[in-house]
Amino acid sequence: MEKPCKKVIIIGGGITGLSAAFYTKKLFDEQQIPVDITLIEKSEELGGKIQTLRKDGFIIERGPDAFLARKLPIITLTKELGLEDELIGTNPNARTNYIYHKKKLHQMPLGLVLGIPTKLTPFMKTGLISPIGKLRASLDLLLPKKKILEDESLGHFIQRRLGKEVLENITEPLLGGIYAGDTDTLSLQATFPNLVEMEQKHRSLILGMAAGMKNRPASVNLPDAAKKSMFLTYKNGMSTLIEALKETLKSIRIIKGQGVTKVDQRDNGYQVHLDDQTKLHADGIVFALPNHHAASLLSDVESIHLLEKVNYVSVANVSLTFDKADITYPMNGTGFLIPANEGTVLTACTWSSSKWLHAAPENKYLLRCYVGREKDQQWVKWSDEEILANVQKDLKDIMGITATPTSHTITRAIHSMPQYPIHHLEQLKKVRKCLKAQKPGLFLCGAGYEGVGIPDCIEQGKRAAEKMVAYLAV
Ligand code: FAD
Repeated sequence: MEKPCKKVIIIGGGITGLSAAFYTKKLFDEQQIPVDITLIEKSEELGGKIQTLRKDGFIIERGPDAFLARKLPIITLTKELGLEDELIGTNPNARTNYIYHKKKLHQMPLGLVLGIPTKLTPFMKTGLISPIGKLRASLDLLLPKKKILEDESLGHFIQRRLGKEVLENITEPLLGGIYAGDTDTLSLQATFPNLVEMEQKHRSLILGMAAGMKNRPASVNLPDAAKKSMFLTYKNGMSTLIEALKETLKSIRIIKGQGVTKVDQRDNGYQVHLDDQTKLHADGIVFALPNHHAASLLSDVESIHLLEKVNYVSVANVSLTFDKADITYPMNGTGFLIPANEGTVLTACTWSSSKWLHAAPENKYLLRCYVGREKDQQWVKWSDEEILANVQKDLKDIMGITATPTSHTITRAIHSMPQYPIHHLEQLKKVRKCLKAQKPGLFLCGAGYEGVGIPDCIEQGKRAAEKMVAYLAV
């Protein structure tokens, strides 16, 4: 007997929703279950935070510019889409990163992994930490591991193991910076679960990280241009991934420019309402959109309010282009990070044309400047001119740049960076349990749940697809 065609709706056309669509199609096809997939995206463009601007020979990323090479979900998807030859690593001659401390750029000590020293000599030589701070950090080698496995903040954990100076001068800009977050309120278990495991297994983070470096899995099979780089991107920008997904998903229905306004439960499934009053039937739905949007569509689900505990911070990035002849500062690295206690508007700066050999024409520089962190949201009210002026002032103080940029691109990513609160994972478990009991066949995924990095989002989209096929295949 012919199997009935299942109707799956995916809400959100960012990387999570597109990955959910890709793997839903793949898994249903593999199991020979007929499926009718509709992806609904509120804006006119797919990709969500991923947006590449290709202009005058520059590759300008308005959202993410790279991903961690060791995270396999994106490597697997890249290969499934036939994009492996598009992968490119960072410039092998410019892999140093800097941290701004006491009005000076300091080279990040060699052997620092996730802010944890694995090589003693460079750490002992760094000007980022005082002699007392270094002594305090070395106590990590002696301190016992935590006995009660309750969640704590990332900041509390690092301070407990390595001391306040490492937290403020290294961890906060490096790890907190990934979330534009406040390390005192970010959940350790939700942001860096590997550090929890490390303490439990090795007691000391320094010893655990050093052991981890020795036992690193052999690098995945990648083209030469992408080998040996910690970060990867695509030659033509991150949107390459979105364009390839769009092309592969030609057989599914994609509705753009329409938001989902309501989801009703029916005897035989769900009804999804769109902005233009269209109503669509679904047997199962993937919610791949920011938590507060998902919560408002599922307001009658018990515990759903817990999703609102994930605050979203606003950030901006300002891409500046310069003629090489106008800047004398030697950009011999990937850029620099700035701890919150330095009091600048700028939170970090990527020397994109040094970090990536493909990002700018030969005679030009491309700089990407970041603004906005959890405790500093005043910039949101500023005009573009004010943002630009503040960024230029900081660049002048830090790098001595006084030249006028040949162009600038300002991107405001309002409410874009989810902040996982302490106990986030337990709360998420509770929400999912209630959702499963009250509205079976609905699945939550995306940056607000289990990892903000693009590979984590892909993995979550894939898991939602696996749950969907398991639910609808019966
Ligand atoms: P989104 O991209 O936010 O997609 C959700 C989609 O849902 C949106 O397109 C939205 O329009 C749509 N939507 C919302 N409401 C509705 C509705 N009611 N109906 C229909 N559609 C709706 N990660 C990295 O790995 N490396 C980096 O270098 C990096 N840099 C970053 C830099 C910036 C400035 C930002 C903001 C993020 C960065 N990230 C980086 C994180 C990463 O880009 C994001 O976490 C990821 O792209 C989020 O994908 P998503 O699909 O979960 O969400």
